[in-house]
Amino acid sequence: MTEQTRALPLVLTPPKGRGKPPRHLADLDAAERKAAAEAMGEPAFRVKQVATHYFGRLERDPAQMTDLPAASRDRIVESLLPPLLTSVRTMEADGGTTRKTLWRLFDGALVESVLMRYPDRATICVSSQAGCGMACPFCATGQGGLQRNMSTAEIIDQVVDGAAAMARGLVPGGPGRLSNVVFMGMGEPMANYKAVIGAVRRMVAPAPDGLGMSARNITVSTVGLVPRMRQLAGEGIPVTLALSLHAPDDELRNELVPINTRFSVAETVEAAWEYARTTKRRVSIEYAMMRDINDQAWRADMLADVLNSYGDWGWVHVNLIPLNPTPGSKWTASRPEDEREFVRRLVAKGIPTTVRDTRGSDIDGACGQLAAADA
Ligand code: SAH
Repeated sequence: MTEQTRALPLVLTPPKGRGKPPRHLADLDAAERKAAAEAMGEPAFRVKQVATHYFGRLERDPAQMTDLPAASRDRIVESLLPPLLTSVRTMEADGGTTRKTLWRLFDGALVESVLMRYPDRATICVSSQAGCGMACPFCATGQGGLQRNMSTAEIIDQVVDGAAAMARGLVPGGPGRLSNVVFMGMGEPMANYKAVIGAVRRMVAPAPDGLGMSARNITVSTVGLVPRMRQLAGEGIPVTLALSLHAPDDELRNELVPINTRFSVAETVEAAWEYARTTKRRVSIEYAMMRDINDQAWRADMLADVLNSYGDWGWVHVNLIPLNPTPGSKWTASRPEDEREFVRRLVAKGIPTTVRDTRGSDIDGACGQLAAADA
């Protein structure tokens, strides 16, 4: 290839679907907020007013922001709160208490979020990337590859939408509060570290800087990007860490979670244990139960032994996820008796164990089923 032809793409219009999402209030730190006010020719407190609407009142409609000057209201809101997510469709299950929304992003990329209301809490499962590059063969999102990272504001806006739905009583059960966020939608959050941490900081900051949520009610789920897990432990934000282990041995995990060929089970579990030690937060080990693949009784014993080798001070619990079979995958859910025996063995070795419910499985809204490509 000559110099000339190599330089050519630079002068062409970028292909559709490239570029950065519009800059949004939720992307801005204090200095950038000040600069944004100056750029609009507005006093600094205007940004604070908009932030109070957005984070404090979950309001995005300029017509409702009557404390802004009528003449410049639309212009200010357009500049600080550009629409980032366009709802393509919403699907409901469990009597409306589970709602999956398919969103189109500014460049046409599609992502999904799922809002789940329980008697004692409401949780939103958010996406952090369009697609995912981790290629776990049993996961629907993993099959399509990574399209791009999402911005902090694109992540936050999913949460604000869920919080607004709860606050306005759009979910059966009357008006309520969004209490929990799990990064278990599309994408690998630790592969989009900066935007994800930015989003977590916005979630925990009190209004008008953020949503005032409790860090312990935010769960970051990862395939086990060890350097990023270490970095997360040092952030001083005690979010809950979930590690998608799915196998206690390298041979099987190399197949189920391909990044394991970079970071072994031992390295990954050690990083999880270090996270628990540093943050005093109990780590959650995610284990999707796959029939005759990873659900043998001997593997339950092996899993317990691996975890117990780091001590039995309650640093960890295991969350078994009944596999949601995805189209074209050879894997299917475990037999009930195998699942029961797996739980029994873990508990017998002192490992607190829960089995995840499968909310939304009938609308393809359950764990690992989020694949926007078929929309
Ligand atoms: N990339 C992150 C978060 C996304 S998925 C991670 O891997 O942790 C959240 C959880 O759902 C992960 O534990 C993932 O392994 C699991 N999962 C993926 N596909 C699944 C499926 N088909 N059935 C059950 N769980 C699945």
